[in-house]
Amino acid sequence: MQEILDAITSGASAEDLAALPIPESYRAAYVRRSDTSMFDGMESWKKDPRQSIQIGDVATPELAPDEAYVAVMASAINFNTVWTSIFEPLSTFGFLDRLGRESSWGARHALDNHVIGSDGSGVVLKVGSAVRNWRPGDSVVMHCNYVDDQDPSSHNDSMKAANQRIWGFETNFGGLADLTVVKANQLMPKPTHLSWEESAVNALCASTSYRMLVSNNAAAMKQGDKVLIWGATGGLGGYAVQLVLNGGGTPIGVVSSPEKAQLLKELGCEAVIDRKAEGYQFWADENNQDETEWRRFGKRVRELVGDDPDIVFEHPGRQTMGASVFTAKRGGMIVTCAATSGYMIEYDNRHLWMKLKQIVSSHFANYGEAWNMNRLIDEGKIQPILSDIYPLTDVGEAAYKVHTNQHEGKIGVLCLAPSEGLGITDPEKRERIGEDKITRFHRHAQEVAAAKNA
Ligand code: NAP
Repeated sequence: MQEILDAITSGASAEDLAALPIPESYRAAYVRRSDTSMFDGMESWKKDPRQSIQIGDVATPELAPDEAYVAVMASAINFNTVWTSIFEPLSTFGFLDRLGRESSWGARHALDNHVIGSDGSGVVLKVGSAVRNWRPGDSVVMHCNYVDDQDPSSHNDSMKAANQRIWGFETNFGGLADLTVVKANQLMPKPTHLSWEESAVNALCASTSYRMLVSNNAAAMKQGDKVLIWGATGGLGGYAVQLVLNGGGTPIGVVSSPEKAQLLKELGCEAVIDRKAEGYQFWADENNQDETEWRRFGKRVRELVGDDPDIVFEHPGRQTMGASVFTAKRGGMIVTCAATSGYMIEYDNRHLWMKLKQIVSSHFANYGEAWNMNRLIDEGKIQPILSDIYPLTDVGEAAYKVHTNQHEGKIGVLCLAPSEGLGITDPEKRERIGEDKITRFHRHAQEVAAAKNA
């Protein structure tokens, strides 16, 4: 990989890059099939990704005609990195085995090591014989919608395809590595004003938020809409707040610390709820919710923005869904893509039907939605929310930080990139968009860390 890195950093031509041999193995972060029961019987929060995530060499898979090898310069931690590493709600080896039974190319994935990671930026090294739009030397970011385009159900909206998968979660050869193999239809142009790590953290969370809020496939937000956003400085929420502000809406951001509340204000979100400081306890005990707490929360939202939210951006799941359904406006929408705190959901159905609310599901994004989101980032209309950067060797530590909710925004991971800040090819554009805006989350995390150490 060193030869490849040298060629990339010295600006080698497409021909020279294409001529370089692809190594037979590469460094990657992975979990082992033999470890899948290592946390059995433990409570979720005690399961430690630092114990299950390994860093080491894995064999390079063969390249299918519709795929590309990409030298990964940087990647990111996503919550699915956490799910894979704690083997919850189930082991991802089942996904790999199912893919393995689908075709001979699919069989490459059913291995005893699962290389994880569903985001990345890098340089195309080689393309399969059926790839038309990309060539060696292209700087790219990769989205995680892995689609079989020979399946009729994948057309119209590929997220509804019968065998739609998430790269690096339901497939092998993910982005937390020095090399990856992806389908050509996962590639998008890397934003020219961003570094490798700033480019690498966006595709998964930003595209998910885009589909949830902007796309006709979910909430199709209108100007003036009030949008309640849980986890508003987290991976999804940090993009959701920006999308609402961009689209002429009013975000109401919920967070859990004064530092996060401050960051939200700096981002331009004026209506902020610190759920810890205000002490909401939606569950009175394990089996019963407390409707008076829903009411207290709903009242607070009204106090802040004068009305109930048209849209609730839901992902915490069990802990918040009852409150989300209660708080949404008459005729409003709760759009959900996850259930971090538990997927067996309970809400009072009377509040849903009597007030004609809708619960709409959403999951990642199709290629068109991911592409449109990437364009917004490339145009500087949405900023990366990179807060912290780890080397590939510390993926376990970085995933632990996300699992224990000690982060803000996104954590980037340097893979082949030897240091931070590389890969910016249009510094004038960066200056036009504004260094302060682009680095807001990183700067804030550094300030918070400095204040804690002082
Ligand atoms: P994240 O970076 O950890 O942010 C989530 C935020 O949610 C946290 O910062 C936290 O904010 C808030 N939160 C956590 N537990 C909560 C609770 N019990 N009550 C209220 N708020 C809570 O994670 P993410 O990347 O945004 O992902 C969030 C979830 O969405 C994960 O489960 C992930 O797997 C899922 N996801 C799904 C898709 C999809 O395509 N379906 C895509 C991306 C992510 P505060 O503590 O500040 O309130």
